[in-house]
Amino acid sequence: MENRREKMRMELNVKYMTRNDCFTVGRKITPKGIMVHSTATPGVMAADWFSRWNKSYKAGETNRQVAVHAFVDDKGVWQYLPWNHRGWHAGGAANNTHIGFEICEPGGFSYGKGSAMVGYNISKNEAYFRKAWQNAVELCVMLCQKYGLTEKDIICHSEGSKKGIASNHADVMHWFPKHGESMSSFRAAVRAALNKTSAPADVPSAIQVGDVVEVKASANSYYPGGSTIPAWVKTGSYHKVTQVISNGKPVVKGGKTCVLLGKKVDKKKGKETAGIMSWIDVGSLVVVKSSKPPDNQKLYRVQVGAFSNKGNAEALLKKLKSAGFTDAFIK
Ligand SMILES: [Zn+2]
Repeated sequence: MENRREKMRMELNVKYMTRNDCFTVGRKITPKGIMVHSTATPGVMAADWFSRWNKSYKAGETNRQVAVHAFVDDKGVWQYLPWNHRGWHAGGAANNTHIGFEICEPGGFSYGKGSAMVGYNISKNEAYFRKAWQNAVELCVMLCQKYGLTEKDIICHSEGSKKGIASNHADVMHWFPKHGESMSSFRAAVRAALNKTSAPADVPSAIQVGDVVEVKASANSYYPGGSTIPAWVKTGSYHKVTQVISNGKPVVKGGKTCVLLGKKVDKKKGKETAGIMSWIDVGSLVVVKSSKPPDNQKLYRVQVGAFSNKGNAEALLKKLKSAGFTDAFIK
């Protein structure tokens, strides 16, 4: 446990861009994937983007309509939109399904034709790249655990473009290969980190009894070698997880940890009826409503303000608690 804590060092800062039209529109999504971007703006770091993008297009304060969930640099992560808020980052359908974050590019170079990085000093930027990479990996691990995703659900902007769900941008594949990396090696790094931080053996996954889940549209069989999932199971309703352990052990079928979908949950009214009573690979599920925060979420501490006046701090705490952040505290 202590080991896990030490490995995760990512610093998460939360400051919502409440002035950005994307925030005020306020559409929600059920995150089904993560899209990795990079800024193509040399030397502008994560904290600096707040003043650049916390502006209203409608009010004429900016000429761009853009918003991402977070920026990542060598210091940590700055979250600017709630994770389940529909972002404006992909220029395509991925906005409806993907959390988007930008990795900040270091300074000291310029952009030439296309997305050529002119004067980019690889050895000088290697240390920065590794730290930013690590923070991006840790952010993906946190989001995968939060939303029941895996490394397979992570793509970059240029991969999204090839899939037809994002605009024609080159990020991040114009940059990662300079440091000997690719989206495949990025996904492998997330997989390795997920394996290290995965829950202890008596808890099969981040999915718990009582969680309301949706079966991913991409899932074919309940588990490798299991029967085919009918379409209505995916689209007809949500499901409630009613069992995760059998005979004191996680249930593994076809090599995958499975949970039991014991109740159907009406998508609109939340009404529960008899379930499909099928065991299913947790990798095929997206958590719609968590019964309680998984233990691993305690790894991340978020500071939302620093005050010299205790009254102001207490006022913010009250606001946070009423917004559902029941674990908020003053230090
Ligand atoms: Zn992009």
